[in-house]
Amino acid sequence: MTDLTSLTLAEARKGLADKTFTSLELTDAHLTAIEAARVLNAFVMETPDQARAMAREADSRIAKGDAGPLAGIPLGIKDLFATRGVRTTACSKILGNFVPTYESTVTSQLWRDGAVMLGKLNNDEFAMGSSNETSCFGPVGNPWRRDGSNTTLVPGGSSGGSASAVAALLCMGATATDTGGSIRQPAAFTATVGIKPTYGRCSRWGIVAFASSLDQAGPIARSVRDAAMLLRSMAGHDPKDTTSVDIPVPDYEAAIGKSVKGMKIGIPREYRLDGMPAEIEKLWQAGADWLKSAGAELVEVSLPHTKYALPAYYIVAPAEASSNLARYDGVRYGLREPAKNIIELYENTRAEGFGAEVKRRVMIGTYVLSAGYYDAYYLRAQKVRTLIKKDFEDCFAKGVDAILTPATPSAAFGIGEKGGADPVEMYLNDIFTVTVNMAGLPGIAVPAGKDAQGLPLGLQLIGRPFDEETLFSLGEVIEQAAGRFTPARWW
Ligand code: GLN
Repeated sequence: MTDLTSLTLAEARKGLADKTFTSLELTDAHLTAIEAARVLNAFVMETPDQARAMAREADSRIAKGDAGPLAGIPLGIKDLFATRGVRTTACSKILGNFVPTYESTVTSQLWRDGAVMLGKLNNDEFAMGSSNETSCFGPVGNPWRRDGSNTTLVPGGSSGGSASAVAALLCMGATATDTGGSIRQPAAFTATVGIKPTYGRCSRWGIVAFASSLDQAGPIARSVRDAAMLLRSMAGHDPKDTTSVDIPVPDYEAAIGKSVKGMKIGIPREYRLDGMPAEIEKLWQAGADWLKSAGAELVEVSLPHTKYALPAYYIVAPAEASSNLARYDGVRYGLREPAKNIIELYENTRAEGFGAEVKRRVMIGTYVLSAGYYDAYYLRAQKVRTLIKKDFEDCFAKGVDAILTPATPSAAFGIGEKGGADPVEMYLNDIFTVTVNMAGLPGIAVPAGKDAQGLPLGLQLIGRPFDEETLFSLGEVIEQAAGRFTPARWW
């Protein structure tokens, strides 16, 4: 039998349906792989007993012919998703050993459809970061290394554990979240596929909040088809999230292989940055050529407010974060530091419980929301946000079906290599992805090639609201042309 961990989700679904192997066998193969890959630090909590119980249940449902669309498929869950009875920390010390008594809507839909939980995945603390280095559980290793080098690289962030685990064949897919790029950037750094759906497509209920007007859940997977299968289960209306949208979830998988002939693809001129590596530029051109060969029409478009997106994001996101994180006060959840009075309790708990990046965001957020600065910063950033959204609307109004851009301005970098002296160096990673969150649009990152050092690079496609299907169709064209990329095992 071929190694069960190297199957795609679609292949595993077939093997399970044909009874070539059981979910218990598939799950055990992944549990063994996880044990052998602890050096990557992708999982912060392994749940083997629960996984085997869920696998047995899936096997009996498959035997009875009543299997859900993800029956028996082993997945990893970002530690930002509340999982009932299983520790959920957002990789922050402040949540301590918090064990939710409820399940997030997204994960409950995955279990409803028969998926198996292997454990909880590492991420940047409260999803703030681009390298998974802010986690209280320590950094995650990228399974990819530069040719001829032993340096451990970051997998991107904040969904670094999700991307690393999927790329290293530790799980068949993973949940992730994206506030400014946290699904797409790690996907690009690990040669996996990540889609951030339209804001409102997946319920945010039971996901630890970072910046509520930007946060959106989505899958990281090993192929475009696998991502489509996962998103179908994760998406859907939920009355418990007032921003969740009540429109039917299409069969995303049906979009795979659909002709893209005649589609109009925008190439935004403002994404051509000064000093962008020639390799990224070349890859972008290759992506455009592949889509053209498949019958799409390429047009240059302009998104004039792009250059304000990152500064505006770093006002809006911290503002919302400072408000969302006010609830961690030492009274209700997790960590509580000893103190003589209630004010000291808040101070000691928050000083001890939050890491440096989270504290920075809380301070920035509090500052931009404070009297006298609110209009100058927060309100202004919100106006810029409206203009960014309008740029995209104007573009789509001209008949553009999707926009093609690089996913990241560079390939993965080494642990400790970036952002030490200047946090903005790290923030610049999200230059191509934050605009999409600001506008609430869907965006997919698809592996497209490698740089001169042998590291994967990704391309991003941005779609119209609730038109994830077009992204899956176009994404698969890129995947077919670029081929699959698998890291050489060193762990
Ligand atoms: N890297 C960005 C940040 O640190 C985005 C993170 C995310 O999407 N969760 O805010």
